[in-house]
Amino acid sequence: MSLPADFVERFQQLCPPELRDAAWRSFSEPKAVSFRLNALHAEAASALTDMRTAGLTPEPVAWAESQGVQAWLCPAAQREALTHGPWANDGRIYIQSLSSMLAPILLAPTADDWVLDLAAAPGGKTILMAEMMGNAGKISAVEPVSGRFHRLKANLDRMGITNTRCYLKDGREIGRLKPDTFQRVMLDAPCSSESRFRADAPDSIDHWSLRKVAECARKQERLILSAYDGLAPGGQLLYCTCSYAPEENERIVAHLLKKRAGAEVLPPPAWVLALPNVRPGIGSWQDKPLPEACAQTLRVWPTAEMDGFYLALIHKGARGGEAGFL
Ligand code: SAM
Repeated sequence: MSLPADFVERFQQLCPPELRDAAWRSFSEPKAVSFRLNALHAEAASALTDMRTAGLTPEPVAWAESQGVQAWLCPAAQREALTHGPWANDGRIYIQSLSSMLAPILLAPTADDWVLDLAAAPGGKTILMAEMMGNAGKISAVEPVSGRFHRLKANLDRMGITNTRCYLKDGREIGRLKPDTFQRVMLDAPCSSESRFRADAPDSIDHWSLRKVAECARKQERLILSAYDGLAPGGQLLYCTCSYAPEENERIVAHLLKKRAGAEVLPPPAWVLALPNVRPGIGSWQDKPLPEACAQTLRVWPTAEMDGFYLALIHKGARGGEAGFL
């Protein structure tokens, strides 16, 4: 099985030339596996001792540590042993991609916030946010797919999360139900999941088509407006996907900027742009310019250690800002 021709052509256009070799290799070579120590678990660090006793060799991830998150990496060959060890099920660690950790780190929720996680299952980002908040404040976690909703609840329980309530709901409704409410909103949107492609795993690719990308984009346009409408004036929204498609990324941010006058893309912190595989969002696609503000969004290009990802941090102006009204 190889990658779809349309995808290959688009990826080749999008990926900066100097990052392409590592990126193409990442679709076929085994990937390192990352995890976090649970900041709410008193015995979390003992998981590292147990892993080393079992012959694993976790190494700390310096940039995550500098942001207060205890992230670790094990070599690809240790994936099975890491994911099947007792530590994977007893709440001391959470196995999560490094790119995925970036989203809560950039949104930076605090113990005083009421946070909305608009597409929450299986809960990796909800859990990291709850840890960053010291299990204080409030998180409302929304997930409309029943099986995934129950998995979300089980993961929150296992990790000892107590500041979160889960809602089996469609995220597109929340902005209307709870306008101007949340200090922070996480929208890790359902997407075409291009960064999950593995050249040797047909089921990671089968679902993909340009039609699927367009279908995801239609849903994302509605979700981002709902996310923004739920945000309290002065609050921040983190929009992210694990797709490379501009239709699901910069164009969704452009849609929000067009529809909501108060929305403003915030510049990313310098440390994240200093990561060797992170670049600004693109400025145009298929000969159509994108808003200049898209250069403040982030594209994480895949490597042996990190998955592809797109992130945009958006601020809601104090006036809120319904498009066209003062
Ligand atoms: N944030 C999660 C994490 O870090 O573990 C991963 C979220 S996943 C990328 C996207 C989620 O959005 C899926 O669980 C999917 O079922 C859910 N979803 C699909 N349609 C939705 C909708 N209309 N409203 C809210 N969530 C939706």
